[in-house]
Amino acid sequence: MAEEDDDLGLCPGLFLHPAAPVPGRIDLLWFTSPPGHGQVVAYSCLCQSTCFELLAYSRLYRIRRTTLPRLGVPTVSFTGGWRRPEAYDWWHRLLTGHAR
Ligand SMILES: [Zn+2]
Repeated sequence: MAEEDDDLGLCPGLFLHPAAPVPGRIDLLWFTSPPGHGQVVAYSCLCQSTCFELLAYSRLYRIRRTTLPRLGVPTVSFTGGWRRPEAYDWWHRLLTGHAR
């Protein structure tokens, strides 16, 4: 899957950039139906063609992925439904390329 984040040249240099996926990474299950309104608690840099946000839905956490329009890939999708410690584990794995 070609989601290795092209640099769009508008980077403020302040935010996290997800690492390229590593071999053997865990493929998260992404779904497209919006799970309602969550509160953004962490996010990756908007300069990337794919950006990720960690969202809190009262006691559960999910990750939202937003990509530039691309054939065969939904623009916005979600994964998760974790309690807080597990959610931060997955957020960390995602940013380090160990899950995607
Ligand atoms: Zn950036």
